[in-house]
Amino acid sequence: MRHSNISTFLKENVSDQYAFFWEAYTGTCTVKKAAPRRLSPYRRFYQEEVDSKPPYLVFRINKKRYYAPLRRNPVLHRAFCGLSDNAGIVKFASAYGLLGFSSAPVKNNRGRRSDGLMLIESLQRWRREIAEMRSLVHLWELVLNKRSSLLSALLEWEKDGLYIIVNRKKELVLSADLPMAQKWRGQEGQYYEPVTYYINEYISRKVGAHVYPRILPGYKKKVYFFPTDLLSAMWLMFLWEVIGEVRPRQCPGCRIWFNPRRSTRKTCGDRCRKKMSRINLSKRKEHI
Ligand SMILES: [Zn+2]
Repeated sequence: MRHSNISTFLKENVSDQYAFFWEAYTGTCTVKKAAPRRLSPYRRFYQEEVDSKPPYLVFRINKKRYYAPLRRNPVLHRAFCGLSDNAGIVKFASAYGLLGFSSAPVKNNRGRRSDGLMLIESLQRWRREIAEMRSLVHLWELVLNKRSSLLSALLEWEKDGLYIIVNRKKELVLSADLPMAQKWRGQEGQYYEPVTYYINEYISRKVGAHVYPRILPGYKKKVYFFPTDLLSAMWLMFLWEVIGEVRPRQCPGCRIWFNPRRSTRKTCGDRCRKKMSRINLSKRKEHI
């Protein structure tokens, strides 16, 4: 990567635990039922079956720029979970870039690299990733909101260990022979530790080989997490939410997710604060 001054660049993009920058583009992002003619997604070694299936998200790029997702919006994973239709996905990809599981750039069928101005990712894979993260975030919200009876109903002890039911599937949380299992078994109704443990394990499996420990030039004596793509970075953001590093809040005025600097802050900014006070005032007047 070219940058005039690498240490300035790192200063801008490195935080306490992580270092990550990602590509966002200006150009046109569209949904296509088939891959553009003579172009097919370039296979990466970890690509999955679904990645070569249409429909596709196709990005014709005019300009590329780098940004630091974990800094610019550390609760981006919440916005990602809220995506419900193609228009939302296109808007998200235009603002934050592609997820990074597929290939960039695409190859034409002579095997030569295209001019690097087109990127392509499977929309089905996007939808699957959104649904997957959403179900885990939903589970975490049950913990946040202390829905103990609902959570107890999801957890189940069997002879070989503790199980959890997520998306109608039963998964092993912890094997009975591990020391933690005895502790949890003795505490009836204990859900916080088992569920956060399950979420943590899930995220570790999910990011797998996509987060590296790294030493950075000029940053000796410290190891950083270095996600390789946006999807892994968002799973890490989720983990930071679980440890309380970020506390996502949805603005009642515009529905965007933000990380309030002060816990008393309810809206994303002045404009929404004023909008909400106007709405609340008129509601109060209606009641009089
Ligand atoms: Zn707002």
